[in-house]
Amino acid sequence: MIKIKLPDGNVREYAQGTTGMDIALSISEGLARNVLAAKVNGKVVDASLPINDDCDFQLLTWNDADGKSTFWHSSAHLLAEAIEALHPRTKFGIGPAIETGFYYDIDMGEKALSADEFKKIEDKMLELARQKNQYQRYEVSKADAIQYFTEKGDEYKLELLEGLEDGSITFYQQGNFTDLCRGPHIPNTGFIKAVKLMSVAGAYWRGDTSRKQMTRVYAVTFPKQKELEEYLTLLEEAKRRDHRKLGKELELFAFSEKVGMGLPLWLPKGTMLRERLENFLRRAQVRAGYSPVITPHIASKELYITSGHYAKYGADSFQPILTPDEGEEFFLKPMNCPHHCEIYKTKPRSYRDLPLRLAEFGTVYRYEQSGELHGLTRVRGFTQDDAHIFCRPDQVEDEFMKVIDLVLYVFKALGFDNYSAQISLRDPENKEKYIGKDEDWDKAEAAIIKSAAAKGLPTVVELGEAAFYGPKLDFMVKDALGRKWQLGTIQVDYQLPQRFELEYTGSDNQKHRPVMIHRAPFGSLERFVAILIENTAGNFPLWLSPEQLAVLPISEKYEDYANEIFLRLQENDLRGYIDHRDEKIGRKIRDAEVNKLPFMLIVGEKESEQGMVSVRKKGEGDLGMMPIDQFISLMQGEINKNIVRFKE
Ligand SMILES: [Zn+2]
Ligand SMILES: [Zn+2]
Repeated sequence: MIKIKLPDGNVREYAQGTTGMDIALSISEGLARNVLAAKVNGKVVDASLPINDDCDFQLLTWNDADGKSTFWHSSAHLLAEAIEALHPRTKFGIGPAIETGFYYDIDMGEKALSADEFKKIEDKMLELARQKNQYQRYEVSKADAIQYFTEKGDEYKLELLEGLEDGSITFYQQGNFTDLCRGPHIPNTGFIKAVKLMSVAGAYWRGDTSRKQMTRVYAVTFPKQKELEEYLTLLEEAKRRDHRKLGKELELFAFSEKVGMGLPLWLPKGTMLRERLENFLRRAQVRAGYSPVITPHIASKELYITSGHYAKYGADSFQPILTPDEGEEFFLKPMNCPHHCEIYKTKPRSYRDLPLRLAEFGTVYRYEQSGELHGLTRVRGFTQDDAHIFCRPDQVEDEFMKVIDLVLYVFKALGFDNYSAQISLRDPENKEKYIGKDEDWDKAEAAIIKSAAAKGLPTVVELGEAAFYGPKLDFMVKDALGRKWQLGTIQVDYQLPQRFELEYTGSDNQKHRPVMIHRAPFGSLERFVAILIENTAGNFPLWLSPEQLAVLPISEKYEDYANEIFLRLQENDLRGYIDHRDEKIGRKIRDAEVNKLPFMLIVGEKESEQGMVSVRKKGEGDLGMMPIDQFISLMQGEINKNIVRFKE
């Protein structure tokens, strides 16, 4: 007998050679019907694999990330089977699961696969799925495997085989299709009930541009038709909310080829939005004891040699700017930290001066390959809401907690209620990848874990994900569509203070080294605005809206009254525009709706006679006529409702 430890801690005994499916059946038949794979000592395996030793054991269903990816990878085999049935001499590369769905790289020779054929392939996949063919695993010798794919004429699989050791090779077969694969897979194709081919793209074999370009077929599958429908609706909604599309429609930002790829131009309305975000954080930071600073956009190469960035990133960044006469080398600033270290060094510091919190909306430039650029989320120039906290070692944990408070305040004010954090630690197996002393790393990692726990943050810990100079905590938020975004970051750093030889005089009158904490609640303004646009679909909270209202005179007779009202609104710090165009009122209302104006004030004869305005609110419709003062206090109430002050 062997001991199987279940996730709830229960230990059950089973006969040696029992399978995941046997265990599922012993628990309940309903459960067994949903089992896709199993996890044995942290490794995902086929539910049909015999288990021979005591182990930690978990059953995987569609609700587990590993269950989903097994489902999608198995679907890639089904896709290949369908394509092979329709185009018999197709050759296959690799077919992995991706974040949503899967792809298979195929080579159809002279033939091309077009979207017109998607439906036919989907139907074939469903037809094959209904046969409930098992994914059968069998071990093969390298010689037999080579013979199989030589006869089949698939040079891609043969090349993959070259890298495999004899004795470790497995084939999986479902129906008439056999693939070289280490698995695992779901029990049979019958689990796949809904199928959608998404797109095709070119992909170089093994990512090597000198090799053959294959066709990458992207697809997604689900265990229920309804889930596919929900997914497609979500995609539509995501397309509607795409910040690149809305950013253009709402005139927030633009790109110009002449200015350069990945270098956003903030248009007047976008700038209004961004400045409000900056001011909001600036106010909170003053309350939290930060001192604003400003540093230049370029710095001497020496600075980055000292910081270590040159050795690490020099070759992959924008190349140096040279002075014409002295031949000096300058780099575009890739991060603000080294500059802030130099500010720290401008005068002697005592233990009583710490913590010193230097904050800067610092614009930095990083080279990204053109193919990686994407709207405002991947750019070559961006502004971080950056700050560096220099503190004593005994203050690290406390400072870390204060930063978490500030970040959570930002999330709350901007409506991100669903957040979590990833703690990135160093890879204990590869310590030489990181700069700095062992004991410093241990201290920093302990401080992060402890403060995240104290603040009740839901966290995951990832080994090997730390930056080369320190461990960090990254915040993730889930947006209105359930998509996850990485936002702000907090990072403990024992290394830069050492490289810059930063010091303070302790109460013992001796010199000590401060600790540095890097932090950015938004991450970058560019990325944050992109996420904000997609989360709100462009319907920003009133305090943030570039334009809060539109005054719409019914005809030019009421222009003077409209002007008079608008002046009153401006005096009360409300913003927007008067639609002076010679258009019908219906048209003016429609345009204001398209521009997502939160409020419209319609003024005509009745309103001007009685000193009133007719108010329409987005999402609620007509609020009726009211005196202008009443409207102003209504607006102020809404604004204050949204924006509570930090530490009040
Ligand atoms: Zn496989
Ligand atoms: Zn920094």
